[in-house]
Formats: sequence, C-alpha cells, structure tokens
Amino acid sequence: MKEYDLISIGTGSAMNLVDTMIQRTPSLRVAVIDKDEPGGICLTRGCIPSKILLYPAEVVRTIENARTFGIDSEIKNVDFKKVMKRMRTLISTQVTVIRKGLSNSPNIDYYVEVAEFVYPHTLKVGNETLKSDMIFLCTGSKPIIPPIKGLDKLDYLTSDTIQANSITRKRCHCWRRIHSC
Ligand SMILES: Cc1cc2nc3c(=O)[nH]c(=O)nc-3n(C[C@H](O)[C@H](O)[C@H](O)COP(=O)(O)OP(=O)(O)OC[C@H]3O[C@@H](n4cnc5c(N)ncnc54)[C@H](O)[C@@H]3O)c2cc1C
Repeated sequence: MKEYDLISIGTGSAMNLVDTMIQRTPSLRVAVIDKDEPGGICLTRGCIPSKILLYPAEVVRTIENARTFGIDSEIKNVDFKKVMKRMRTLISTQVTVIRKGLSNSPNIDYYVEVAEFVYPHTLKVGNETLKSDMIFLCTGSKPIIPPIKGLDKLDYLTSDTIQANSITRKRCHCWRRIHSC
C-alpha cells in the first residue's frame, strides 16, 4: 500500500488545484490518476478541439460573406483531412507537454489506470493500492445518449468517439457547406 498526502483522480481542472497545492507545500506527495490521455476532456475532446474545428468553418463563412464588403473571393477547396490533422497535432502537442510534466514532477506519481474505491480513503489503481486522507474526485462527466427512437439503429458519434473516427461525407453534417465533405 502506498500512502500520499493527496490523491487526484482526473488530470483536467484537477491540475490547477494540484499545482497550487504543490507550490504551497513543496514536500507534498501526490498521486495523480487518469485512465485516459492527460489534460481532461476540455483539452482532449471537449472545449479546445471543438473550437479548433469551428474556427476554419468561421473562416469559410467569412470568405463567403466577403462580397458584402466589396471583396470578390472564391473557396476552391477545403482540405478537411488537413483541418482534422491540424486539430489532432495541436492537441497531441499539449497532451505530450502535460504527460511529461506529470511524469517528471518530483512530487507526483502518475498512474495511467482506472481508479476505484475499495475502502474509505483507499483506491485500487491497477495492481496498486493507494491511500490518502485527501482525495480529489475530478472525474468530469460522460456523454449522455438521448432517448431518441431509432437512435440505437444508427452508427452515431459522441464527443468521445468523433475524433477517433474518420468522418465520412455522410456523417459530416456540420461541415456540409464545405466542398470536401
Ligand atoms: C465537445 C465539448 C465541448 C465543450 N466545450 C466547452 C467550452 O467551450 N467551454 C467550457 O467551459 N466547457 C466545455 N466543455 C465542458 C468541459 O470539457 C468540461 O466541463 C470539463 O472538461 C470538466 O473538467 P473536469 O476536470 O471536471 O473533468 P474532465 O476534463 O472530464 O476530466 C476528468 C478526467 O478524469 C478521468 N477519469 C474519470 N473517471 C476516472 C477513473 N475512475 N479513474 C481514472 N480516471 C478517471 C477521465 O479520463 C478524464 O480525463 C465541453 C465539453 C465537450 C464534450
């Protein structure tokens, strides 16, 4: 059994708290656990990738509306694969930075595992048992599938699966104004 001053489950908003606490108490021993890529949903498949994808769509709309300002312009093509690749590159760069920070911190033991309570203040994390008087549950949320009749017969995407899949022409509803979809 390993004992820590603090255990944090989740590497999203949790990291603001963990960083602040380590700065205040430099001897703090912390276990940080996340089953997925570090950075939380906001970085890996929420706020940031969605805005990186929305921005090129805004650029397309701006160009389309340029005539209003007396500017003649034409969109010849939109390389949607490049749009997706740019987003994935930006996100993976940040994920790598966070992973390095977590792995190299002298205060932090970083576990890429599912955390599960087995006793009060005690977690099973992979093959380890971790204990602390202070455990932050910064585990976020997960997509809810709305009860829409017939939805279960469709190959729908959620914010968890959309990035892992290549988006086909049929699925690309929000980008349908763009020629390459
Ligand atoms: C598509 C999309 C767009 C969004 N856009 C915005 C926006 O523009 N502005 C905004 O404010 N918010 C936005 N959000 C919401 C935002 O992403 C969340 O509110 C935020 O990420 C929550 O942060 P968190 O730290 O609480 O949890 P999360 O960021 O969800 O992090 C929780 C982490 O805990 C890990 N975890 C969970 N359970 C366990 C376990 N048992 N063991 C180990 N690890 C575990 C998960 O793997 C995850 O990495 C968006 C969300 C989505 C899906």
